[in-house]
Amino acid sequence: MRRIAIRLFSAVECLPIVSPHGHTDPAWFANDAPFEDAVSLLLWPDHYLLRMLMSAGVTLESLGIQPSDAAAVERDRRVIWRRFAEQYHLFRATPSRHWLEHVFGKLFELKLRLEPETADLYFDTINAALRTPPFKPRALYDSFGIEVLATTEGALDPLQHHRSIATSGWSGRVITTFRPDDVTDPGRPDFSDNVRRLAELTGQDPSSWQGYLAALRKRRAFFREHGATATDHGHPTAATADLTERQAQALFARALAGANAAEAELFRAQMLTEMARMSCEDGMVMQLHAGAWRNHNDTLLRRFGRDKGGDLPTQTNFMAALKPLLDLFGARRDFTLILFTLDESTYSRELAPLAGHYPCLRLGPAWWFHDAPEAMLRYRRNTTETAGFYNTVGFNDDTRAFFSIPARHDVARRIDCAYLAELVATRRLDEDEAAEVAVDLAYRLPKAAYRL
Ligand SMILES: [Zn+2]
Repeated sequence: MRRIAIRLFSAVECLPIVSPHGHTDPAWFANDAPFEDAVSLLLWPDHYLLRMLMSAGVTLESLGIQPSDAAAVERDRRVIWRRFAEQYHLFRATPSRHWLEHVFGKLFELKLRLEPETADLYFDTINAALRTPPFKPRALYDSFGIEVLATTEGALDPLQHHRSIATSGWSGRVITTFRPDDVTDPGRPDFSDNVRRLAELTGQDPSSWQGYLAALRKRRAFFREHGATATDHGHPTAATADLTERQAQALFARALAGANAAEAELFRAQMLTEMARMSCEDGMVMQLHAGAWRNHNDTLLRRFGRDKGGDLPTQTNFMAALKPLLDLFGARRDFTLILFTLDESTYSRELAPLAGHYPCLRLGPAWWFHDAPEAMLRYRRNTTETAGFYNTVGFNDDTRAFFSIPARHDVARRIDCAYLAELVATRRLDEDEAAEVAVDLAYRLPKAAYRL
């Protein structure tokens, strides 16, 4: 199996990287300014690292992250890096460790293990390298072998960085993705303000349901002008709804006035259906990332804000939740809805059977807490026999950690080849078919699914 896996992997290892969903900052590629240092590049933006460090009692203040109150924080970046090195054992056998080892070894050519004794060597080597031209964002984009990189922006984003990338003459393809949660989720405290801004931006009536939908259509078109081929929706559940226009108008009015939790859930549900309807019109691929309990830790949210490691998985159901949407659009072959879950139990019970039936559905790769070798293998084992490979969309790195992108794709390709090698060795697939699937998973499927 290992020999077969190595043969399969050797044919996909160097394929270009297609990154159709992620959260890198388009300003990096617009400005092409050097990254600052090891701490601000590798530690602060990585909520996987912050979450684990917090679990061991390391405070964010001691890592130099400023809360909204006036608490004292560590200012010395070298001290912060040493603190991280002291805790590096926490990451043994976690995907964070795989990704970091790849970055340290392949990019910075650091061969000794990170530990307190080597912390300064790491800090100085990384910081010195970051000041050199090969480590600037556009040079890295090229050396990583990226063919296309999608970022994710809110519905009100002016997309000025994408505009300047497009007009700069640089050959890299960095495209946006339309993520309208800020104007479709009444559970957010700033929802009605955001809807008012949306109406201003698009010249629509902020109080009418039809005006609101027209405004969203205009923003989708604006995003498409900046390269977007997809939308993304981060919802606590996969609920969808099919309200009448009168019901929707009344619910919209309540949402603007301050909806209760049930009304907010129903509004989000209706908006997934509206987004699917618009995708049928304009051809944008729709992604649903369902089941994250955002900001589970109230104190962390209050003091430090979002994306600091306080988001956790919840149990998620799709079968009944998606039925209103699927009744309307499930049979459409020109519409694609890519589903992601943080609840692995749904893969064999609901998601693979759904994707193995409805033409519009595809399964996104193992997401976030499951973006790891064991979980990727479980994903293939739980979905392949019912949905096959061709109802999946290859890999998403879904990361804000730009330097980890090659590592993440490398892990995904290795695991898929390991799974395929097992099928070949146990006579369930011929090796030439497995070789074709390996290329499909690494390269062809993400391009096709995301219409890139
Ligand atoms: Zn994402």
